[in-house]
Amino acid sequence: MLNETIFLDYQATTPIDPVVLEAMIPWMGGPWNPHATAHHLGRAASDAVEVARGQVAGLLGCRDSEITFTSGATESSNIVLRGITDEGDSIAVSVLEHASVSETAKVLSKEGRPLHRITVHDDGILDFGSLEAVMAFGPKLVSISAVNNEIGIIQPVEEVALMCADREVLFHSDITQSVGRTPSAIHTAPVDYASLSSHKVYGPQGIGALFIRNGAPKPQPLSSGGGQERGLRPGTLPVASCVGFGAACELAATRREQDAEHARNLSSILLSELSDLSGWQVNGSMEDRIPHNLSIAFEGVDADVLLAALPELALSTGSACSSGTAGVSEVLRAIGLSEELAGGTVRIGFGRTTTAGEVRTATDLIRERVRMFRGNLL
Ligand code: PMP
Repeated sequence: MLNETIFLDYQATTPIDPVVLEAMIPWMGGPWNPHATAHHLGRAASDAVEVARGQVAGLLGCRDSEITFTSGATESSNIVLRGITDEGDSIAVSVLEHASVSETAKVLSKEGRPLHRITVHDDGILDFGSLEAVMAFGPKLVSISAVNNEIGIIQPVEEVALMCADREVLFHSDITQSVGRTPSAIHTAPVDYASLSSHKVYGPQGIGALFIRNGAPKPQPLSSGGGQERGLRPGTLPVASCVGFGAACELAATRREQDAEHARNLSSILLSELSDLSGWQVNGSMEDRIPHNLSIAFEGVDADVLLAALPELALSTGSACSSGTAGVSEVLRAIGLSEELAGGTVRIGFGRTTTAGEVRTATDLIRERVRMFRGNLL
C-alpha cells in the first residue's frame, strides 16, 4: 500500500528517517529505564536520553536544561496553557492555532480563564492591530504558532515575542511545523515556552518536547508521579523514542537548508505544472510561507470528493487532527476564504523523500480529476 501511494501529507507526519531508525534500534527491546540509575544499564539509558536532550536543544539553539520531554506538542501546549494560568487569568491565541492550542484555550475559557482571539490578515499574517487591542485586556499568556499546519504561513514570532516581553506578558509558540523547516526563533527572541513533536521532523511518533526558557515561570504539572523531568512531566521516558527524536533533530540541523531547497524545487514544479489549469489559487501569502507546503483552493470542486477520487495520492484537505470534523476549516475561514474555495482546498506537503517525478505524476492526476469534476474534459 505504502509503495503504491505518493505521500504528499508531510504536515500530518513525516516518515522516520533511516538514520534515525538505526539510532533507535539498539534501544528497543532491552530493559532500559533511564530513571533506574542504581545500575549501569539504567545509567547508560539515562546518558542516551541526555545526549538526545542535547540534540533537541542544539536544533533549537537553547540549553539542555530548557528541554522537557513530553509525548508531543499537544501535551506540551496543554502543560503551558493549563499550567501557567489560574482562574481569572486570560489567554490570547491567534485564530490560526492548531486544535491542541485552540481547543485547550476554549475549554479553559469555560472554566473561567477568558479567551481572546487575535485575528490575521487575508494573507494569513498576524494582524498586529488585533494583537495590540487584545493586549489591552492584559492577558497572562499569548500563544501564537510559528508556522500554521494547514496553510504553511510563517508568523513574525520574534516581533510578537518582543512585544510580549515589553509588556511582561508570557509568550508561548507552537513551533511544531517550523522545527527543521525555518531557523529557530528560540535563541533570537524572548520566547518563554515552545511546543514541538518529533514526528514532524522525521523522528518517531509519541515523543516531543516543551521548551521552557530558563527564568520563565514553571508551569504546574498536569500529572503527579515519580518526579521525572524535574517533576513537570512524571513518567518513565521512552529511551528509544528520545534517542530517535534527538537523532532526528541533529539530522535536521544539518539538512534544513538542503530540505528547504528541495521543497522549493518541488513546489515550483507543482505550480508550473498546474499553470494550464484555470480556477485555482494558493491560500495565504506566497512570500511568508514554508516551501514544504501548498494549500490550494480549486474552484467548483469539493475537496473531499476530489481526494476520494485520488486513491493514488496521500493528501489531505486540512489539519489531520481535525479531518473528519464537519464544516469549513476555521483556518481557511479566518483568512477570509469563501465557503466554496474553502471546501475546494487541498493541502499538499513536500518532504525529504518526495521526488520530482512523484510531484509531476500527482499534479497530472489532480489536474485530470479536477477537470473531470468540473465536467471540462479538455
Ligand atoms: N501543533 C501543530 C502545528 C501540529 O501540526 C500538530 C500535529 N498535527 C500538533 C501541534 C500536535 O502534534 P501531536 O499530535 O504530535 O501532539
